[in-house]
Amino acid sequence: MACTNGSCEVIYSKKRYIGYAILTLIALSLPFLRIDGKHFFLLNFDKKQLHLLFTSFDMQELYLMPFLLILLFLGIFFMTTLGGRVWCGWSCPQTIFRVIYRDLIETKLLGLRKNINNKQKDPKEGFSVKKILALFIWALLALIAASNFIWYFIPPEDFFTYLQSPSEHKTLIGFLAGITAFLIYDVIILKEEFCVYICPYARVQSVMFDEDTIQTIYDEKRGGQIYDTHGNMISTKPTGESDECTGCEACVRICPTHIDIRKGMQLECINCLECADACTKVMGKLGKETLISWTSPNHIVRGDKTHYLRFRTIAYGVALTLALVGLLLMGSTKEHMLLNINRTSQLYKVTDDGKNIENAYTFLFQNTDSKDHTYYFEVTNGNIMVKKPSKPIILKAGEKSKEVIILSSSSSFSKSKMEDTLLPIQIKAYATDSKEEIVVLRDTTFIYPSINTIETKLK
Ligand code: SF4
Ligand code: SF4
Repeated sequence: MACTNGSCEVIYSKKRYIGYAILTLIALSLPFLRIDGKHFFLLNFDKKQLHLLFTSFDMQELYLMPFLLILLFLGIFFMTTLGGRVWCGWSCPQTIFRVIYRDLIETKLLGLRKNINNKQKDPKEGFSVKKILALFIWALLALIAASNFIWYFIPPEDFFTYLQSPSEHKTLIGFLAGITAFLIYDVIILKEEFCVYICPYARVQSVMFDEDTIQTIYDEKRGGQIYDTHGNMISTKPTGESDECTGCEACVRICPTHIDIRKGMQLECINCLECADACTKVMGKLGKETLISWTSPNHIVRGDKTHYLRFRTIAYGVALTLALVGLLLMGSTKEHMLLNINRTSQLYKVTDDGKNIENAYTFLFQNTDSKDHTYYFEVTNGNIMVKKPSKPIILKAGEKSKEVIILSSSSSFSKSKMEDTLLPIQIKAYATDSKEEIVVLRDTTFIYPSINTIETKLK
């Protein structure tokens, strides 16, 4: 890091704030982005749909969900192995909300906290107009954040319509109020204790670390030892002649989770790098480089290069790519109509003086396209005709329909005197207005009764 005229550029906090602003903007605007009525991501329980990359999938097509979950978990493993708790410090809504409330509202806007560089001193106990104002501002922002979260499950176009008739949408109102109340409690009362005691990610992340994982690390070789190997403080300022740490504790005062990074890697560290920025300022005045940096133990302890490409990261990278390819392939095979075929309880019916056999089925059609379509179907086996329905089935976009279908065939195909004959058949269903693009094939069976059965029925 370049230090000029006794001061060093503080880079992490500025970058983090820019990152927070971009992420907030993305999170807020994404639910409003639509192409042909489809969202980038929407898990709509209300209409039983998943929208992904501006394509909608019916709940019956949720074969994509395992891929999404695998991607999510592999992404977390990959990110944590490579960059430690980079998520916590740079992207987690909890951290962003705390920065907004503590640093922006309490410190910058209302002056309830006197110094942004000292996060150890909470505002004075008791009520004041400024405290009520801080609560009010955050409650408003919490309501927006809660709505933003819900928009990924109930899209904004429905959300705002539902809000106009709250008595008919009590569950939505309950969720909105509950999430808002939790965010107020979490950000004002729980604070970073959420990260330390509640968040499950904090508990599991350390097992994914290795010697090349990027973390916030105090350079003990340069700075000097403050704690012994059991974590007991030896002295607030190292005593060695070449030890560079001034013992100013700027890194401790600024830490939002109230830890001393000079003690080594700790579960409580959310990787916000506030301590690195604080030390950069202190050491910059002395014309030296920071003692706390974002690097790997391999680099800081052994002076080796950090190996970004190593077995674990490559393995996670390959698995992530495979899952992504799987998701894209599965997503591209989306069917614009769904068809489930069930046979009715009656196996067959002998008609026309034993010359004709009928089989009945229940077809469940669903138009999963965004346009209305007219559907019909044919049996790929030429001996079997469609007796009912005689007219195509018209379905609006998203509409379902249950139809009783009767197929018929000549009894001369009954092969055995004693046993029924099962003939595998294929149903080709299609949209008559888009036969090339919207077509599905389904296998089922047509049953011919035994010759004895036909004769018995005719007696
Ligand atoms: S020690 Fe504290 S200030 Fe430093 S990165 Fe960790 S949580 Fe942030
Ligand atoms: S800010 Fe730097 S110099 Fe000051 S106590 Fe922390 S590590 Fe030492």
